[in-house]
Amino acid sequence: MNFVLEPVKQKRINLLDFDRKGLAAFFVELGEKPFRATQLLKWIYQEGVEDFGLMTNLSKSLRSFLNENCTIATPEIVVEQIASDGTCKWALQTHCGNRVETVFIPEEGRGTLCVSSQIGCALACTFCSTAQQGFNRNLSTSEIIGQVYVAQKRLGPEKKITNVVMMGMGEPLLNFDNVVAAMNLMMDDFTYGLSKRRVTISTSGVVPAMYRLTQVCDVSLAVSLHAVTDELRDVLVPINKKYPLKELMEACRDNAKIAPRRTITFEYVMLAGINDSMDDARGLIKLLKTVPAKLNLIPFNPFPYSSYLCSSKETILRFKTLLNDAGIVTTVRKTRGEDIDAACGQLVGQVQDKSRRHLKLKSVGSEHAA
Ligand code: SAH
Repeated sequence: MNFVLEPVKQKRINLLDFDRKGLAAFFVELGEKPFRATQLLKWIYQEGVEDFGLMTNLSKSLRSFLNENCTIATPEIVVEQIASDGTCKWALQTHCGNRVETVFIPEEGRGTLCVSSQIGCALACTFCSTAQQGFNRNLSTSEIIGQVYVAQKRLGPEKKITNVVMMGMGEPLLNFDNVVAAMNLMMDDFTYGLSKRRVTISTSGVVPAMYRLTQVCDVSLAVSLHAVTDELRDVLVPINKKYPLKELMEACRDNAKIAPRRTITFEYVMLAGINDSMDDARGLIKLLKTVPAKLNLIPFNPFPYSSYLCSSKETILRFKTLLNDAGIVTTVRKTRGEDIDAACGQLVGQVQDKSRRHLKLKSVGSEHAA
């Protein structure tokens, strides 16, 4: 029998997978000067040039090497939804057919992009719709920075992304290296040059990774608190069983030390009859007095089959007033993009669940029904 052997195509190197340091090391390995990294970043992120042939300050031989071996590949927009308040939500398809979601929220004087870090989420917070989809995989650096790249290109120069929040799908600190590389890229003067105060990473409290982050990457920190007792937090944010409140607050204090004038934002989803009593508010005051904090109350966004309800407007207002009066700067998050399900906690993408969470949930559901 005759076989025709197909030549194995070598996988191209995606240059969006490198931050500046990584790119400099890549060029040095090729026998080039490290400053090629800054030239390349400028071409890609600032000039929007994707054709290596047009990168005129690179030597001809380097251009042809890049042409043959490298690529600039991002996830692709497959669905675009624009809400009546101007909020845009995109579903982006990755090379493996999974989808992630990215949301742009325009506000007076700024534009915030809410970026995903994983396909699905493994953390099982009971009030979050992404959690119900289960977990598939971590996003690569190019798939994370690619969300900013694709969104900014689509928005055009009139609508600038001025802030990034790592608050889309996934737990960013469980995809540490790729998220840190992507955040370094966003803040690089040769790309978007976002200030460290305008890049925020939100975590449900992966304590060891919080310490690591404090050491290696100076960005703003948001912590999804949602409860003031371990008993309740164990239910709402189950990673609390591993890293209880005392350890979480200690990690927050450690982070606060590196930037004395900066505050940590605590997020607190308002769930009717669950975590919204005046006792809870008093517990919050006590807890948040131990760290430079501001508080962001998030009205709960219901999703199909969720068993929680959002606290009433009056309760949220009373909660807010009590905290503000105690000297803790407290805001209520405006719900944006409601008519396109772009609001906080609504990003589900299209997750092929590798953790088989949906099966587990179904069986829990049927136990309750029985
Ligand atoms: N895993 C990270 C980031 C993703 S979630 C974290 O936990 O911080 C971003 C924020 O949305 C978190 O504060 C999360 O608790 C909140 N959230 C999730 N589901 C929600 C819902 N249904 N309604 C309101 N907020 C929600």
